[in-house]
Amino acid sequence: MDSAAESKARPVNADPPLVRAARKAEPIPAASTSLYAERVRVYPRRVRGAYRRVKWALLGFCLAVYYLLPWLRWDRGPTAPDQAVLIDMPGRRAYFFMVEIWPQEVYLLTGLLVLGAVTLFLVTSLLGRVWCGYACPQTVWTDLFMLVERLIEGDRNTRMKRDQSPISAAKVILKTVKHGAWLAIAAATGGAWVLYFKDAPTVLVELFTGRSSVEVYFFVGLFTATTYVLAGWAREQVCTYMCPWPRFQAAMQDEQTLAVTYRAWRGEPRGKHKQGDSWDGRGDCVDCRGCVHVCPTGIDIRDGQQLECINCGLCIDACDEVMRKVGRPTGLIAFATLAGEAARARGEPWHYRLIRPRTIIYAAVLIVACLAMTAALVFRPITELHVLKDRMPIFVALSDGDIRNGYTVKVLNKSRDGADFNLTVEGLAGATMTFGGATVAGAPTLEIEARPDAVATYYVHVRAPRSSLSGEQNPVTFVMKDEKGETIARTETVFAGPGR
Ligand code: SF4
Ligand code: SF4
Repeated sequence: MDSAAESKARPVNADPPLVRAARKAEPIPAASTSLYAERVRVYPRRVRGAYRRVKWALLGFCLAVYYLLPWLRWDRGPTAPDQAVLIDMPGRRAYFFMVEIWPQEVYLLTGLLVLGAVTLFLVTSLLGRVWCGYACPQTVWTDLFMLVERLIEGDRNTRMKRDQSPISAAKVILKTVKHGAWLAIAAATGGAWVLYFKDAPTVLVELFTGRSSVEVYFFVGLFTATTYVLAGWAREQVCTYMCPWPRFQAAMQDEQTLAVTYRAWRGEPRGKHKQGDSWDGRGDCVDCRGCVHVCPTGIDIRDGQQLECINCGLCIDACDEVMRKVGRPTGLIAFATLAGEAARARGEPWHYRLIRPRTIIYAAVLIVACLAMTAALVFRPITELHVLKDRMPIFVALSDGDIRNGYTVKVLNKSRDGADFNLTVEGLAGATMTFGGATVAGAPTLEIEARPDAVATYYVHVRAPRSSLSGEQNPVTFVMKDEKGETIARTETVFAGPGR
């Protein structure tokens, strides 16, 4: 009995086969237990149209940014690297044009990720999965690999015929050329990745002269392999099975979200149509399957919105072309909303609602995050003072009755110029300071030097009369002033003592 017949014969509320089999402790039929669906190979056809042009433009832009960005220079003076975008691991810095991020400022990268995530939420609530269809690296590189495949092996029908044909010299040559081209692109992609971590021209020379480190060759190999496998072989499987985004993007969408939609109310009942046939009593869909043949994920959008759909709009281009040929209005497949289509199907007017609670919330969070990031960047200090109190010993009682505490003082100077500062401690009457290990008498102020673009570390002893302490933990403030006496940085900590 086929599955359709079986479902008809069984009452709708009857136990499903797995439950019945478990109750009777019978072996479960192998056909029922298989959770594996064999991959149906997708052969997307070439398509022309507005959405395809937008996709080409974005593809070119994304690839240009990725491959060319490491070659852009940015003058930061003689002591700093001149690569505009650089993640300098040994130097523990990240450079992005005029912005230089120190390890202590990693919150800026976190802020960037938050900005990216909220932007994605907002765009998804407005336009569905356009990120997936237009700008996701998986889509961009898959599109590029498909273009290369089509240029070498021909369009959909030619490729399908060749794949079904017996092996031949021509077939082997074409497949070899295609995979060679894919590998070359993948290697360029992996090679470009490492350029972001060290001076690009130097890395390139080292790579080709065998002077790069094993780690560099490992990462080039790793990214070459992943690009080749994900964009050449896995393709739509990544979007459908591996990527978590389709699973939770539905949480950002509602009935007002624009998504690629087949207008069943206009297209059905579908059927073949010959020139001169009447359109009365039938829908506009001529069942040509053009929309299916161009789909990079191999789905039929006429079955409704599906998890596999990446909102690329190529089926719109394909269908519009058909509609123009058969003399019907374009837009049988279009970016539309569930609410709008339901209203249209009822013949009611409908207006797109851009402003709705979820878009307001996402936009508000985005604005707040942008302002916070801007403020963090604009107002971040050039010089920072960090003070870490010794934990052992907590304090030392000296022979004359004074109490001494030890501190590690770090001065971050993010500018390209060195500077001298005066360090004092406030909150302790009669406190004096010395550098750790110094035998000279203490002074109320210490002169410290902050070298350019570096962290200066000093070990400092603070000594105070026992009578100035109010308890075991006495709040004190380290203050760093410049030569003009202006306060540059303050850091609060404690001075420990035996109590009164
Ligand atoms: S159904 Fe249309 S929009 Fe969705 S992935 Fe396929 S071609 Fe792109
Ligand atoms: S391309 Fe348009 S007309 Fe052809 S099958 Fe798809 S929806 Fe129908």
